[in-house]
Amino acid sequence: MEKRFDVAIVGGGAVGCAIARELSRSALSVALLEKENDVARGTSGKNSAVVHAGFNNPPASLAARLCVEGCAGFAAACRELGVPYRRTGKLVTALGAEDIPLLERLLAQGRASGVPDLALWTREQVRAREPHIQAAAALWSGSTGITNPLLYTIALAENALANGAEIFLNFPVEAILRTGDGFILRSGRRALRADWIVNAAGLYADRVAALAGDDGYRIYPCRGEYLILDKPAAALLRAPVYPAPRPGVGGLGVHLTPTIDGNVLVGPSAEYISSRSDTGTTATVMARLWQEALLLLPALAGCAVIAAYAGLRSKIVPAGAQNFGDFIVEHSRRTPGLLNLIGIESPGLTASLPLARLVLRLLGEKIPLPRKAAFQPERRSAVPFRALEPEERQAAAAGDPALREIVCRCETVTRREILTALDNPLGVRSLTGVRARSRAMTGRCQGGYCQQRIVAILRDEYGVRPEDMRWQGTESWLFTGAVK
Ligand SMILES: Cc1cc2nc3c(=O)[nH]c(=O)nc-3n(C[C@H](O)[C@H](O)[C@H](O)COP(=O)(O)OP(=O)(O)OC[C@H]3O[C@@H](n4cnc5c(N)ncnc54)[C@H](O)[C@@H]3O)c2cc1C
Repeated sequence: MEKRFDVAIVGGGAVGCAIARELSRSALSVALLEKENDVARGTSGKNSAVVHAGFNNPPASLAARLCVEGCAGFAAACRELGVPYRRTGKLVTALGAEDIPLLERLLAQGRASGVPDLALWTREQVRAREPHIQAAAALWSGSTGITNPLLYTIALAENALANGAEIFLNFPVEAILRTGDGFILRSGRRALRADWIVNAAGLYADRVAALAGDDGYRIYPCRGEYLILDKPAAALLRAPVYPAPRPGVGGLGVHLTPTIDGNVLVGPSAEYISSRSDTGTTATVMARLWQEALLLLPALAGCAVIAAYAGLRSKIVPAGAQNFGDFIVEHSRRTPGLLNLIGIESPGLTASLPLARLVLRLLGEKIPLPRKAAFQPERRSAVPFRALEPEERQAAAAGDPALREIVCRCETVTRREILTALDNPLGVRSLTGVRARSRAMTGRCQGGYCQQRIVAILRDEYGVRPEDMRWQGTESWLFTGAVK
């Protein structure tokens, strides 16, 4: 007989993990089902990592409301969960006078939504804050911040797990059967039962809804490509810098974003594509991103690009449509017991916890959600070795030989941190899992030096055969055999 849960959440992105975490405050039994071998493998791991203030969306929209709420609570949530966060502020720039009405519109929109700390800045004010940025004027948003979306999503999942939720990785929901009193969710030969399904499957949310008998939604993937710049670029800007959003661009425009880990992102582009899994990058777009970045920040010309990636927006409006596609969070009108989250594009990362609280309110209209006295909101996380002062490093390393071996030289990641990453509570033993948790393989050499050392640790300490290792997913083998 299949195991039975009160609620099954489909999708282990920031939104699904936030829902699992918030539901684990209640006494309900909760299962989180994710098709990949880790959480945050979808859009939640491939975005700008900006904690938005909420002035980009129409004031009455759900996206604006939840974004403002998410931004206001993000720092506290990160403190609780042991996730890095920095309030950086943000500039939306006018290249010329013709862009200034666009900034005024954003300012009015933000004020109508209750966004705090907004102001129009002159060229001189911009220069005083960001001396290298080219701008005739700018909208300043003081409440915008940055985070690490991979660690944020992992932390939500780990906290949900610690509070009793069960997490099933490598569980692509392939069929959903309705029974007299709930559902059976199938993945290959595995199956479980649930009274309620919360569909947080991101790009695939329309398909998951259809599996459960509700074919009333359609998602249009829209790809955003990025460049990652090497760390010296971070000396050229303090806050994310965006261009004034031109109508019809399909995103917020190509911006420059300092990352919490010390790099700079350039992007994203916005291109509707037919595939929901094509996160490839293209030479044409990379060249265009670079040109647009130089318009905002000419001093980038000497900086090195170390990697590129792409994320896919789950849009509910097709290419060319001018109307705004708001977040949809609702009980299915066709399938009782199914609650859908559809079209959760930007600012879905920022709004993930408010989205989760909204899901709890909607569920609470149908079933009792008794609170669990033992809920533990805090999650501990160690300070990375690279963030320690030299004396602290020495003291820590004196008691632990694994802290004396630097495995990733670019990001100063020790053997201890690799082992801790591999001993994670979700039981993820993949290279991308190590990368997300420790930052090994994310530096200038992109793993050229440390990847083989991490492979050796996986083989020697955990008995994983190199021939069985995948970079990501099920098809990306790394090795066919040994040469010596
Ligand atoms: C280019 C770009 C830039 C962005 N920048 C920002 C930003 O700066 N700030 C911000 O707030 N937001 C930003 N966003 C939006 C944000 O990334 C998303 O709103 C958010 O990550 C959505 O989270 P999610 O959990 O809904 O989706 P996802 O992270 O995609 O998670 C859905 C999960 O469901 C799983 N899944 C799908 N089908 C199944 C199935 N059948 N069975 C089991 N599992 C399944 C997937 O594998 C995936 O892990 C950006 C988005 C993009 C594309």
